[in-house]
Amino acid sequence: MPSASLRDIPGVDALLTSPEILPLIRDWGRLAVRKTIRALQTDLRGAIGTHTNPDLRTGALAREINVRLIERGGRGPRPVFNLTGTIVHSNLGRASLPEVAISAIEQAARHPVDLEYDLHRGGRGQRDTHVGRLLCDLTGAAAATVVNNNAAAVLLILNTLALDQTVPVSRGELIEIGGSFRIPDIMARAGCRLCEIGTTNRTHRQDYARAINDQTALLLKVHPSNYVIDGFTAQVPERELAALAHEWQIPFVVDLGSGALVDLSAYGLPVEPTPMTSLEHGADLVSFSGDKLLGGPQAGIIVGSQALIDRLDANPLKRALRVDKLTLAALAEVLKLYTEPARLAAELPILRQLTRPLDAIEHQAGRLAPRLAHCLRDFSIRVSDMQSQFGSGALPLRAIRSAGLRITPADSNRLQNPLDQLARNLRGLPRPVIGRIRDGSFWLDLRCLEDEQQFVAQLAALSLI
Ligand SMILES: *Cc1c(COP(=O)(O)O)cnc(C)c1O
Repeated sequence: MPSASLRDIPGVDALLTSPEILPLIRDWGRLAVRKTIRALQTDLRGAIGTHTNPDLRTGALAREINVRLIERGGRGPRPVFNLTGTIVHSNLGRASLPEVAISAIEQAARHPVDLEYDLHRGGRGQRDTHVGRLLCDLTGAAAATVVNNNAAAVLLILNTLALDQTVPVSRGELIEIGGSFRIPDIMARAGCRLCEIGTTNRTHRQDYARAINDQTALLLKVHPSNYVIDGFTAQVPERELAALAHEWQIPFVVDLGSGALVDLSAYGLPVEPTPMTSLEHGADLVSFSGDKLLGGPQAGIIVGSQALIDRLDANPLKRALRVDKLTLAALAEVLKLYTEPARLAAELPILRQLTRPLDAIEHQAGRLAPRLAHCLRDFSIRVSDMQSQFGSGALPLRAIRSAGLRITPADSNRLQNPLDQLARNLRGLPRPVIGRIRDGSFWLDLRCLEDEQQFVAQLAALSLI
């Protein structure tokens, strides 16, 4: 190549209109691309000044701009393949929605909707009535309200019912959920005082009884979602806590975390607590997530007594924590699906994936192994048994038998960190593939692979590696 001079560096406008750059503008936005081009031009000038001879062809510059844009980030959420084996993965956006919910979101996004408008009477309406009825019908609760997520639900409950008062919580339930939701911190921010009672493994009715005084606002039970305390343990059943709370005329509140809306054992899955049973046991309020076992959009759902829900709705914080029309549109459709259990397992992605038959996953692994082997010549690929897990703090420790592909570097592999390299390349595909590195292999659990065609179609790009 002849040595480059400053004059050879393409101008910003020339690059912005070149066909190699146009797709980057679509992916990242014009502003980000323009900024990156300017920074690159500065670096190129420096390089030419020190007599290095950079490649100034548009294709090479576009590749460099692309690398810099990826490093910079900020492109918006992109679809990925979740082959981690964790079905509801908080880092990957939790539950995928059923088609009926997706259509409802589209409608609500495109048109004005009766969000807070009463079509019957013609005038102002209530945002929460769209899902309130459904939630009450499904859970048997007298009233319901919805906020942005379950962390917000717990915050709203504590701030409304326990401001400047005390709440006893068992030391075995002072949990941290991934992403910095910690019960003691939320309680502090809600403006109430935590009174730790019992021990990590054993807490008795007596511990609660001794802690209650006229400063006590409520009794709180937190479902220890993402771990179990095993061995020499004791905790107080919900019925007893409800009875104790009601002796003192204070509410009994359950933070259920995941909260299935159906009995999962009907689908051959382990039993997970439901809001219905907590209400039956005497809970006055139960909170749970919309996007964990429920399989809906991100939301925090609170069901319980009318008087308490009214107090929550009257708290100014409720306005700050409320959900938008898209969430309500999706949640209403998901809840309607629950009123037709026969459709649920086929249409609710989370349940469809949880109950996907093992032999179907094994067959899929058998189909995909040779295709992947074809693209990854320096790796050996085996169909392997795997263990999926639910994730997001439901059904902890319950492994679900699954199958997938175990990819191991072949002896001939000369890459420095072949597994990291492979993981990076899979993440670099048009629809990134996310798996797991463990025990010297890269694992792709196929339980959640529904778009097999799309997965296969983009494999060709891997052989370029
Ligand atoms: C997941 C969880 C939360 C937080 O819910 P988000 O919907 O993630 O905000 C709170 N409490 C428990 C017990 C949980 O499992």
